[in-house]
Amino acid sequence: MAKKGRVFSGARPTGRQHLGNYLGAIQNYVALQDDYECVYCIVDIHALTTVEDTLDLKQNTYEMALDWLAAGIRPQETIMFIQSHVPEVMELHTLLSMVTPLGKLTDLPTFKEKIRQQPDNVNYGLVGYPVLMTADIVLYKTDVVPVGIDQAPHIEFAREIVRSFNYRYKTNALVEPQMKNTKILKVLGIDGKEKMGKSLNNHIELAATPEETKTRVLQMVTDPARIKRTDPGNPDVCNVFTMHKIFSPQDEVDMINVECRRAGIGCVDCKTRFAANLNKNLEPFRAKRAELDAKPDVVQDILNDGAKRARTIAQKTMTEVREAIQLP
Ligand code: ADP
Repeated sequence: MAKKGRVFSGARPTGRQHLGNYLGAIQNYVALQDDYECVYCIVDIHALTTVEDTLDLKQNTYEMALDWLAAGIRPQETIMFIQSHVPEVMELHTLLSMVTPLGKLTDLPTFKEKIRQQPDNVNYGLVGYPVLMTADIVLYKTDVVPVGIDQAPHIEFAREIVRSFNYRYKTNALVEPQMKNTKILKVLGIDGKEKMGKSLNNHIELAATPEETKTRVLQMVTDPARIKRTDPGNPDVCNVFTMHKIFSPQDEVDMINVECRRAGIGCVDCKTRFAANLNKNLEPFRAKRAELDAKPDVVQDILNDGAKRARTIAQKTMTEVREAIQLP
């Protein structure tokens, strides 16, 4: 079947992925492969804007690649690679920076937030982050970028840069990417309050052992109003119930929905059931991951092959870009 166009998405090498990454991003990456030609990038250069200690960078990249592959990224058809392996992106970033007004970059809410988060490391790369992101997208002649609503301003910004570039150099070398709004599910952490994430240590890793997963699940905060076992609970405000709806069979979800409200089932029992269902769901993922992890050379080959294919597209774009600018 003919594909609908090319999709690009990148994520920073944050190491082992958690349920939030899976439900909020990876699952969608996998599904998009059916309809689009996909380019998925582990953006290690972007990581340098916030990460100072790079000791774990290689390992984190490898772990993330393992998770993506085990979750169903198909490297034969999808281009999966590491950003820095295609250095053309740095060149395009520099060239795009010439058509990007500085004031717009420093006005972006994401930049202001970063200044608040790391006041001692307000580096030049942080300001240029959206320009590098634009370079990532347009280098591969991307038609579509999947975005949650919060990233929409960045893609709008990328479209503006493309228009400025094409206008200034009287070319159509760069393709204006379209946004594909995806239903973004915000997965809460085990605290039941904040977004699941590594920095808050409220996450559940996909690659954890079944025992580790169970320990973590048993720490999940349920309906805070339910203090005693005999108190009726409210599944509508319980993060464990939200997760049951994703990972448990419908009859069990229905049973919990009824029994929790009349204190027929306790939180520990409910969480134990969730842990078992989650572990069962993750079994094929974990088996595939272990299989890949036993052959690290194969993973390396996949990333190298991805970079080679990405670079072929990138070099063609850069030839057109250089010609459009009339670089001597
Ligand atoms: P990045 O800095 O590349 O966004 P993250 O690890 O924060 O790195 O996120 C990677 C992807 O996973 C993003 O698409 C993000 O939206 C998604 N994601 C991360 N945490 C969650 C969460 N708790 N719920 C839903 N999606 C999440």
